[in-house]
Amino acid sequence: MKKLVVGNLKMNLINLAERERYFKLLEKELSGKDFSNTEVVLCPPYVHLESFKKWKNKKIKLGAQNMFAETKGSYTGEISPTMLKAFGCEYVILGHSERRRYFSEKNEEISLKVASALKNGLIPVICVGETKVQREEHRVLDVITEQVAKALVNVSRTKAGGIVIAYEPVWAVGSDVTPTTHEIMEAKVLIRKILVALFGKKYAEKVRILYGGSVKAVIAKEICVDPGMDGVLVGRESLMPHEFLKIVAIIDKK
Ligand code: PEP
Repeated sequence: MKKLVVGNLKMNLINLAERERYFKLLEKELSGKDFSNTEVVLCPPYVHLESFKKWKNKKIKLGAQNMFAETKGSYTGEISPTMLKAFGCEYVILGHSERRRYFSEKNEEISLKVASALKNGLIPVICVGETKVQREEHRVLDVITEQVAKALVNVSRTKAGGIVIAYEPVWAVGSDVTPTTHEIMEAKVLIRKILVALFGKKYAEKVRILYGGSVKAVIAKEICVDPGMDGVLVGRESLMPHEFLKIVAIIDKK
């Protein structure tokens, strides 16, 4: 199974000049590099999907940061999985903590999106993770169990191989604080156990489990390679192609 590095560009590249500058830097950094063990995915804002598709570098796949569960119709302001497919997306981030926090997304809504993404041929990268308070109250197990089980409630075991789970403790996102290698490993074991209970061992093993939250090249080994994660979800560092590809290179080498 290939490793996976997903870059979440969030609400950045705010004009055409910034986008062009980003493409130039990416081209420069990608030149001469080959990542044979790793899939690399970038998730730009919707408005940039078409230009990313046209830019089309074979080394980078395309993803979106969110989607609506319906495929078309009167849903003002929403974007459907069929649109994402048409614009070249293979992946979609779902249930990101910023969506849960600022847009009140609940597990039930996320589960509809997960099912719809799978049905429409997209690979959902489902974000789960506890807040600081939940960790302090020793509720990590309950929170993650509920988030994973509810997100996957409409998913059959044969679809498990098309799912990615990103363990992103909310307190580590955008904070420059990260869990220890051991804590990340514990979360991974817990998520795998939940998946085994839902799908059985054979299918559960097909799910890639990533770590996300303040990932940087200098700590990529201790937060991804050492705890045996299948890759990472990267926020801020994905805006800097040089740093982003350094992370990819570390994970690609293992
Ligand atoms: C994220 O938003 O998914 C994320 C991991 O952000 P950052 O790397 O900036 O903490």
